[in-house]
Formats: sequence, C-alpha cells, structure tokens
Amino acid sequence: MCYAIPGQVVALDGRVATIEYFGERKKAYNEIPSLRVGDFVYAQGGFVIKVLPPQEAQDILAVWKETFFELQEMDLRLSRLAVKSEGVAKKVLRILDKALEERPLTKEELLELLRLETPQEREYLYKVANFLRWKNLGNGACVHGILEISSFCHRNCAYCGLSSHNRDLSRYRMTEEEILAAVHEAVEVYGFQSLVLQSGEDPKRPLDDLVRIIRTIQKHYAVLIFVSFGEVGLEALEKLYEAGARGLLLRFETSNPALYAKLHLGYTLGTRLAHLEKAQEIGYLIATGGLIGLPGQTLEDILNDVLLAKSLSAEMYSFGPFIPHPATPLSHCFPPSPSLVLNTLAIARLVDPKNAKILVTTAFETLDPQAARLGLLAGANSLMLNVTPLSFRSRYTLYPERAHEGETIEEQIAATLSLLRSLGRAPTDLGASTPQG
Ligand code: SAH
Repeated sequence: MCYAIPGQVVALDGRVATIEYFGERKKAYNEIPSLRVGDFVYAQGGFVIKVLPPQEAQDILAVWKETFFELQEMDLRLSRLAVKSEGVAKKVLRILDKALEERPLTKEELLELLRLETPQEREYLYKVANFLRWKNLGNGACVHGILEISSFCHRNCAYCGLSSHNRDLSRYRMTEEEILAAVHEAVEVYGFQSLVLQSGEDPKRPLDDLVRIIRTIQKHYAVLIFVSFGEVGLEALEKLYEAGARGLLLRFETSNPALYAKLHLGYTLGTRLAHLEKAQEIGYLIATGGLIGLPGQTLEDILNDVLLAKSLSAEMYSFGPFIPHPATPLSHCFPPSPSLVLNTLAIARLVDPKNAKILVTTAFETLDPQAARLGLLAGANSLMLNVTPLSFRSRYTLYPERAHEGETIEEQIAATLSLLRSLGRAPTDLGASTPQG
C-alpha cells in the first residue's frame, strides 16, 4: 500500500526542497540533513518525510505512471463545468461566475451560496467548487489515518459523547506499547505517511508520556504526526513540536464566542484560539474547523467559521455535522441536513480555492452514506481513515453509530481506493500547500 507517489529532488535551497512528480514541481520543507539533489523522496503536508532507494522509487513510479494519467483523465471528465444553468437564479450565477474567476466573494455573496436549497442551484455550486479544486490542486486526495489513543476526557462539551456528561461510557487508555504497535501497523503494514493521534483531554496521560511516545514514533517511523489532544497548554504545544509532531488538529468548534461559552461551560473560545495561534507561530500545520448545525448556530456563524479557519491559515479544513449523542445535554437536538454540510464544504473551497485540504469527516459519512463521494465532488479532497484497533474503536463514541466503526483497516482502504479510482483521484499528497520561499 502506498499513500504517496515518490518524487525526485531537483533543487535544494536551504530548508526548501523542490520535488518533481511526473513533470509537476512542488516545494517541501526538508529536515533530513543528508538530502541531496537527485534523491527520491516521499513528502507529506509540505514536509520531506523519507528518502527512498532509487530502485524502489523507480519501481513504484513505473506502476503509478500509467494509472496516474488515467486517473487525471477521469478527474478531468468529472470536473468539466458543463452544467445546466436552468433553475439557477441570475444572482447566483453571477456570484458563481465571480468565484470561477477566483475573485474574492463578499460575505453577503457567500451567505447567499451557503443558503442555497434547490437541487439545481446546489448542483451548480458543487460543480464550481469541484472545478476550482481540480484547476488548482489536481486530482490528489490526501488520506490520513487517525488513531484514537484514549477516550478519557475531563471536559464538559455539551455535544460530545466523550465528555464528562457521559457516565455510562466504558473508557479506555491505550498503553504506550499498544499505541506503538498500532502506529507500526498503520505505517509499516498499510503505508500511512500521515497519522493523527487523538484523545479526549485525559488528565491521567502526562505530557511527558505524550512527548516520549511522539519522540519514539519519530525515531522509528517516517510519518507526519498530527497531535489532537485538545487544549494541552501553550508550552506543551512547543514540547510536542520539539518531540517531532508537525501538525495540530484542533477545531475551534464554533467561531461565535457566546455560543462557544454556552456549549463549553467554564471555557472560552479565546483559550482555544490562543492554542491555534501559538501552534501557527511554532510552525505546526493547522487542521481546524467547526461543527455544523449546532443548536443556536446561524448560517452566518457557519460562514464565520469557514472564514476563521482561513484566517488561521488552516492547511486542512475539518468541518462536520453535529450529531446528537443520547448521554449529553443536546440529546434532544437534531443534526443538520446533508445539504448544509455539502454547502459548507463547497463554500470552504470557494474561500480557499488554491490551497485547502478539505476533509470529508466521518461524522458526515455517518449522516449520509454517500458523503465521501458527494463531498469529493463538491470541493473536498481529503479523507481520514480510522486506524484505531477494533477492540477500542467502538468505545470512542463521540456520537452514536459512527461510520466505519466495525471496519478493519483493510476494508476501509479497499473502499477508499475504489471510491477514489471511480472519481479519478489519486491517493497522494500532491496537492500539499507548498511552503513560502
Ligand atoms: N480532545 C480533542 C479531540 C476532541 S474529539 C480536542 O479537543 O480537539 C474530536 C472532535 O469530535 C471534536 O473537535 C468535535 O468537533 C467532534 N465531535 C464531538 N462530539 C461530536 C458530535 N456529537 N457530533 C459530531 N462531532 C462531534
């Protein structure tokens, strides 16, 4: 299994390597001192991850070459903008024309799009978002793995099944050995090159343990690590980065401070944003976003969420529907419509047409079994597979009946590859936003 195409280093300028893939050039940060021009490498999220022996790289490239161009053909066919404008209001057409020219849209215009409800108008919006994805980022789809290392959490988030509200949950904390074994399997057996380690805010997992785990992973495996342990504190962010973590997945959940305060009693949006800002300053890749359809949330709030993700320079936009959990104070509420989720993903593409990795979340797949296909055709280009061992996975109940809960890693990979192939997408990180310089 391989989740990235090797590229060849064609130039090195300080920490920045220029890497060529089938004629396309990308830039990536390099932290491998021995790297030389001519080397074959894997890069993920704009970082050089690993140098490969030339023969191995050439063998992999030979297999990919044909498929790669075939997939591009298919993507091109599916991304054509031949859509009917019948049933689409003039005003909407005008806004979408402006989006196609990649002129920034006003908040009013974006709101108008977010509000779209008729199938014809939504279809047009999704086609435009998909076209912009294709034009700017090509057919690369990034596939990360997520490993949920502990379901203990001391927080009281009103929507979350891991929160202290849920007294019935039989919680788990993977041991260091179990975590390393799961990372080993994901990286060495299945070829993941990018992993998110996630947990609740678990008071019984000291920072030193997390640092040691990340350091060990970094030492033994060529993999880009995102941490997602909640609000660990600003100093802890530094220590985790020093240990080798290079990404932070931390949703701000909602950009509306009053709504945030209501859903997280005793906590403030400010503290969460301070983490994201600090992480940005340290140099983490930022994955962030919010929940769609929270009770009391307006469409304008959702738009502000997307704009906030952009202003935080999100490398990855993680937006998914709120799904009520029976053991939380929001058990009586309803999830949003799948259309609103798709509209949000498409808006995110319009707001950040050139760089964004836009994730189709598992929560969206839980809400709508077609979510991955629909999302990938509405501007999204990123998926996350669950690599948590099955014996723990069903106990990480953020919300009930999570999609893929009972599926092995093999099953998820097979389904993902077949979906990507049917859409002409390559499971690569070619679309990584490239560093400045
Ligand atoms: N402690 C980490 C991980 C939290 S769980 C952190 O604070 O970042 C990961 C994400 O699951 C949360 O950010 C939240 O947006 C999402 N989530 C929690 N409960 C949910 C629910 N009921 N429906 C949909 N998503 C939910």
